[in-house]
Amino acid sequence: VTPASVLDLFRSHGALLDGHFKLSSGLHSPAYLQSALVLQFPDAAASLGQALAEQLRVMSPTVVLSPALGGIVIGHEVARALGVRALFAERVEGRLMLRRGFALRSADRVAVVEDVLTTGKSTLETIDVAAGAGVSVVAAGAIIDRSPHAVDLGVPFVALARVDVSSVPPETCPLCAAGMPAVKPGSRPG
Ligand SMILES: [Zn+2]
Repeated sequence: VTPASVLDLFRSHGALLDGHFKLSSGLHSPAYLQSALVLQFPDAAASLGQALAEQLRVMSPTVVLSPALGGIVIGHEVARALGVRALFAERVEGRLMLRRGFALRSADRVAVVEDVLTTGKSTLETIDVAAGAGVSVVAAGAIIDRSPHAVDLGVPFVALARVDVSSVPPETCPLCAAGMPAVKPGSRPG
């Protein structure tokens, strides 16, 4: 698995499109990323999980923790490849937390895994879920890093590929200025 092969996989499933898109955040972007279109194929999810696990293994995680919903499938595959548990945190009244009887043990070494790192906000919130429980977070990982600039997560971060695309307000969008109509993708972009 190389960065180019990951992006090829995304493009071949329509999970990475070039154009002019209106994101759920209201921002406009020349790229649309929807990892669920790749992860719906279990073989693809497994090979991406395996590749991410290989990069995270050096940190000896004992549990993978992912933000729901976007991180669940890839988190599960990374955990399978590492032979550790796969937990997810979900939002209750806007705040990420562990539910369903999920528990972290004080000796756990947590790897936070999500599908796409955009602003880093959900990864940071997920790190806080573990840190708030007094458990150490040893690394974070994502299939694709599309953050506009290097985000300091406070832990080592690995991604299988990077997509350099800017998201801008419509007022300053060069594609709008060029008169190209913006389209709204089917569901929430990664
Ligand atoms: Zn625009």
